Amino acid sequence: MLVDSHCHLDFETFASELDEVVARARGAGVGTLVTICTRLTEFERVRAIAERFGNVWCSVGIHPHEAESEPDAGSARLMELALHPKVVGIGEAGLDYFYEHSPRERQKEVFRRHIEAARLSGLPLIVHSRDADEDTVALLEEGAAKGGLAGVIHCFSSTEFLAERALALGFYISLSGIVTFRKAESLREIAKQVPADRLLVETDSPYLAPMPFRGKRNEPAFVVHTAALVAELRGTEPAEFARQTTANFHRLFSKTTPLGTEQ
Ligand SMILES: [Zn+2]
Ligand SMILES: [Zn+2]
Repeated sequence: MLVDSHCHLDFETFASELDEVVARARGAGVGTLVTICTRLTEFERVRAIAERFGNVWCSVGIHPHEAESEPDAGSARLMELALHPKVVGIGEAGLDYFYEHSPRERQKEVFRRHIEAARLSGLPLIVHSRDADEDTVALLEEGAAKGGLAGVIHCFSSTEFLAERALALGFYISLSGIVTFRKAESLREIAKQVPADRLLVETDSPYLAPMPFRGKRNEPAFVVHTAALVAELRGTEPAEFARQTTANFHRLFSKTTPLGTEQ
């Protein structure tokens, strides 16, 4: 069974068919999902979805797009919300200088609070980084120097620079459907080189459907297409690839329980 380590089940597009979406994932061999929080003001809805399904977990955090619009929340508040048994990570948090929906200084401030919350709680940090690799690395290294920081670069679509520095900090790399896109040659090169014990897969659904569904609404079941392509690139049998990435997931997200032992 595979894990979709990053999806957004609280988004409106899934509201009317959540049971079917989770059932289709399981039917496709995707047994475990993490629904990722992007706004603290939505956290209760995100957590309610994780509470409703035994195999769905969640995170708590503020997406860099929302750094400006969301009310202030310090690391203590994030840690308090993360005490819930279904909350298994801090984020998604980070820097997005491509869209720059929030001012860069504000994004950095909010990202730092998430780094602190991850470090002090011992939960993995779920990092979003777009066109901001230098600053992302600088802030992660600053946090890691204080000790206790672990996490994942989600929807990895950056350069070798970020991959190398993140791996050196002990971080994991999570690949989304982007790796299946025709023009993603350099990303496929990186996908071949990530150590087998540091790789995760995700959908980031409803965004970024992998080939052959590109442009359509994405959903957790589709992570099988991303996994199949990455396994082939790496010359790994699909079953072995699923075993590796699922083991990686439970090692990093250590509050989760493997399938069959939940509930
Ligand atoms: Zn993201
Ligand atoms: Zn996301």
